[in-house]
Amino acid sequence: MSEFDLIVIGAGPGGYVAGIRAAQLGMKVAVVEKYNSLGGTCLNVGCIPSKALLDSSELYHLATEKFGVHGIKTGKVSIDFPQMLQRKNDVISNTVAGIDYLFKKNNITRLTGLASFVDKNTISVKPEKGKAETYKATNFIIATGSKPTELPFMKYDGKKIISSTHALNLPKVPKHLIVVGGGVIGLELGSVYGRLGSKVTVIEFMDKILPTMDVELGKTLARSLKKINFEFHLSTKVKACSVKGNQVSVTAENKKGEDIVFSGDHVLVSVGRRPYTDGLAVENAGIELDERGFIKVNDQLQTAADNIYAIGDVIGGMMLAHKAEEEGVYAVEHMSEEIPHLNYNCIPGVVYTWPEVASVGKTEQELKDAGTEYKVGKFPFKASGRARAAEETDGFVKVLADPETDEILGVHMLGPRCSDMIAEAVLAMEYKASAEDVATIVHAHPTFTEAFKEASLMATADRAIHV
Ligand code: FAD
Ligand code: NAD
Repeated sequence: MSEFDLIVIGAGPGGYVAGIRAAQLGMKVAVVEKYNSLGGTCLNVGCIPSKALLDSSELYHLATEKFGVHGIKTGKVSIDFPQMLQRKNDVISNTVAGIDYLFKKNNITRLTGLASFVDKNTISVKPEKGKAETYKATNFIIATGSKPTELPFMKYDGKKIISSTHALNLPKVPKHLIVVGGGVIGLELGSVYGRLGSKVTVIEFMDKILPTMDVELGKTLARSLKKINFEFHLSTKVKACSVKGNQVSVTAENKKGEDIVFSGDHVLVSVGRRPYTDGLAVENAGIELDERGFIKVNDQLQTAADNIYAIGDVIGGMMLAHKAEEEGVYAVEHMSEEIPHLNYNCIPGVVYTWPEVASVGKTEQELKDAGTEYKVGKFPFKASGRARAAEETDGFVKVLADPETDEILGVHMLGPRCSDMIAEAVLAMEYKASAEDVATIVHAHPTFTEAFKEASLMATADRAIHV
């Protein structure tokens, strides 16, 4: 029986990063993955393929809707959807191959099969074909991730009633895509098809889209998405679903109590994801789950068995690849008696629609709920020279700061390239910068980043230059 210092279960961004960090610290490491492909949800059916399709569909949208105003004539532009999917698949395989390379480079043992705990120091790994083998380790990290949540009356059939995984591989561009859930997945994958010409109907249970983000972001984004064929039904609850021939019908009840029936080519159910521990036999190691099935951990990410850590989507919190990665590094450094660092308040969230949405720190609602005083500085992209040059004037940057100390408490932005711009806000908040600190830093002109400086000037002294 092989013995390791650390066995990581799951090769998503949490697991593979933990494996690499452990190898860097000199541990003998194995990573178990039940699929043949490394990279987990993020690389295979999540972040990377969705961004590949978002980029392709954005190029089509620019060619058909925006080139003209720049004085570029294209003639008829058409979609080769199989090629678009093929490019996305090539991006996946190249990215996954990169993880294979990193495992070899770091001497990480790769085990393929479903891992189950035998006891707190032993797992068995059952490959798809063949016999299970057992392995021992001093420490374990569980990084088994999550799967799409199903609604009981609309189970995924993979064809008409689909999850994000199926939506990444549709046979053709639908005429009408119904989306249940106006969260991140619904809006990103809805954007892919909206830009390619589908009508996209979003049915959202809450009274706003992106309900966990700062309320202004969802409101402004909804206005932009309506320009690419989105229709929103808020405060609306889905009740029933049926498939007839090529069409799927969804019945929903609006806030007046009236039933509305939507018919489309597919219904994408994107109402969140559930922790995945199927087949892991956590009970054999004394590990506890909470009432929603997430693995319970302490502040050091240890489960009830202190040699077994758990990280990423399977422990809940923000279900984000970079959160899983940082937790992986934290767990490994903790077991190695290093001094790990992870500040949950400074984990950015990005929605890759266009305009992009990005946030870090507290929302206005969270500050109000906590009774925390705050001041607001806001700068619209329509006052930015760079944004006007690019014809990208939708959106704003909003800085929330402490009225006494001027410390930045939250930054919320919607606009061009916000996915990259948010990094400056994360850096500022991590080092407890004041709005004035950001306002006094020189930002290159003309760049979109000037909007963050101007919003900080507004927050610190109500004295933006360009509004
Ligand atoms: P996962 O990536 O889910 O990996 C878990 C791995 O464990 C899987 O490979 C699974 O097969 C394996 N496994 C499970 N059980 C066992 C077992 N018993 N034995 C062996 N192996 C096992 N996040 C972002 O930050 N940015 C984005 O842009 C983004 N886009 C997304 C788009 C979509 C469509 C989706 C669905 C998700 C997206 N996410 C994004 C979320 C992101 O993918 C997850 O937060 C991230 O993958 C979680 O990483 P993880 O390591 O915890 O788990
Ligand atoms: P989500 O939590 O972002 O959104 C789910 C939405 O569905 C919410 O707005 C919720 O109010 C709504 N909802 C719930 N039940 C409903 C019902 N019965 N009827 C109508 N609406 C309902 O979940 P998601 O979009 O499925 O994404 C899952 C996870 O994947 C998220 O945690 C997200 O962080 C992650 N993800 C991240 C990115 C990114 O970082 N860019 C991209 C995709 C996914």
